[in-house]
Amino acid sequence: MTNRTFTIIKPNAVGLGHTGEILEIIEKAGFRILALKMVCLSRSDTEKFYHVHKERPFFRTLNLFMTAGPIVVAVLEKENAVADFRTLIGATDPAKAAEGTIRKRFAESKTRNAIHASDSNENAAWEASFFFTDKEILETTYQLPVSPEEIDKD
Ligand code: ATP
Ligand code: MG
Repeated sequence: MTNRTFTIIKPNAVGLGHTGEILEIIEKAGFRILALKMVCLSRSDTEKFYHVHKERPFFRTLNLFMTAGPIVVAVLEKENAVADFRTLIGATDPAKAAEGTIRKRFAESKTRNAIHASDSNENAAWEASFFFTDKEILETTYQLPVSPEEIDKD
């Protein structure tokens, strides 16, 4: 079934100039981008977004890292999107991430692990709505209203 997932290209990957390369991997893997933007998280945004981890020992460093610079957030669509995207990004700890995964290539540590992916359809919907309104998530596909010849004639 076609469904949606949500991703964050994290501050280290954006800051080191890997945004374009990561988006290329995502598109080449068959994901369609439905929404995309660059934003900065505040400390309180991060507490809300990662609320399930608020009491974990690593939360302080996770929050410091996620607020360290701009991030790129996106909503993606594909058959089996949630599970396939988790496979594409690899394990949380890059030392355990499979060859060819985004984290294997771009993560620097367990905290600075380059990219986030939703872990369920429910969380994907909630996370997408954290950053985007319904109107900003575009289902519309590319379709010329007239023939290509007509578009190119001038
Ligand atoms: P994400 O939610 O960012 O996609 P994940 O689902 O692979 O990552 P989670 O268990 O949800 O992993 O943890 C959220 C983030 O918290 C991780 O991406 C990582 O940066 C950090 N984190 C998780 N576990 C640890 C840990 N044991 N030590 C340090 N940081 C951790
Ligand atoms: Mg997670």
